[in-house]
Amino acid sequence: MRRLCLAAAAACLLLLAACAGPESWEREILAMDTVMKLTIYGENAPQAGEAAVDRIQELEGLLSVTGEDSEIYAANHTGSAQLSPDAAALLDRALTLCRETGGALDVTIYPVVRAWGFTTGAYRVPDDGELTALLERVDYRQAALEGDRLTLPEGVELDLGAVAKGYTGDQLMALLAREGIASAIVELGGNVQALGAKPDGSPWRVALQAPEGGYAGVLEIVDKAVVTSGGYQRYFEQDGEIYWHIIDPAQGRPARSGLQSVTIVADEGTLCDGLSTALFVMGREEALDFWRTRNDFECVLISEDNTVAITEGLEESFSLYGDWEGRALEIIRR
Ligand code: ADP
Ligand code: MG
Repeated sequence: MRRLCLAAAAACLLLLAACAGPESWEREILAMDTVMKLTIYGENAPQAGEAAVDRIQELEGLLSVTGEDSEIYAANHTGSAQLSPDAAALLDRALTLCRETGGALDVTIYPVVRAWGFTTGAYRVPDDGELTALLERVDYRQAALEGDRLTLPEGVELDLGAVAKGYTGDQLMALLAREGIASAIVELGGNVQALGAKPDGSPWRVALQAPEGGYAGVLEIVDKAVVTSGGYQRYFEQDGEIYWHIIDPAQGRPARSGLQSVTIVADEGTLCDGLSTALFVMGREEALDFWRTRNDFECVLISEDNTVAITEGLEESFSLYGDWEGRALEIIRR
């Protein structure tokens, strides 16, 4: 069983002033190792909300790496599996992101993540020899997806943990829209995804956690996903060193790239989730070079020296918050 790290996961992003008025429905559930909070507005909100909860539970059952009934578990233990349309669609999208990020995102990192104890909470620092051996099993290009059929070579194991919540957010937005909802916001651990604007037509205000606690900034969004990956979200300390759960697939060790957190803003949650992990691994300069090659996302980067950089598409929608208000904010241009 994976341990719940609720405090850390729930605190990544909080909504400011998400007030529930009449014709609204709110629910907090535990799923995918985190706290999820759904807020839905409109006449059909209760019915849509119940359908959303069912959908989360369905996706958790399919995608969990530790759930013995999941398709991913089956593939990891038998080397192949016939995937459901959801698992196949997510894996296909994830493999594209692995390729596009040059392997900074690698969905076959699982044996390494497990060796560090991040899946069980039995944390330890593996030695160099162990990591070298494990890294031979890490290569997303080894995962063969043909239609719905997944085949993995001996020793290669998949973990969709870096993208599963993003995909879930996308699926919830689609489901709620089908249910006739025009205004909703979901928090899935560190992922926030909004359908439309607030019921009064104003943008949602999403707070970005500061690495040391409290909030560093606020983003105003309509119809967007906001996903943060931070070294402070899940970590352990040993002999004065901090080891966190985002692993550099080139090293097999926690990615120390000079960044404390990466927040991605885009239409698509799966993209946000995959890129928040990948850009954290890349570090600031490589991440910004990557951003310049694309036009499908914007980002907020908080470096170890607490400097904040935002890409130019967020100039109007991002502001520093609270104690961070007086600090320098760098705007990155193309
Ligand atoms: P969280 O799940 O805490 O919101 P992320 O989306 O950044 O954070 O995903 C981190 C999870 O993804 C880790 O717990 C681990 O299971 C897995 N992971 C860690 N490093 C990588 C990587 N480079 N590529 C793919 N998955 C990773
Ligand atoms: Mg991610």
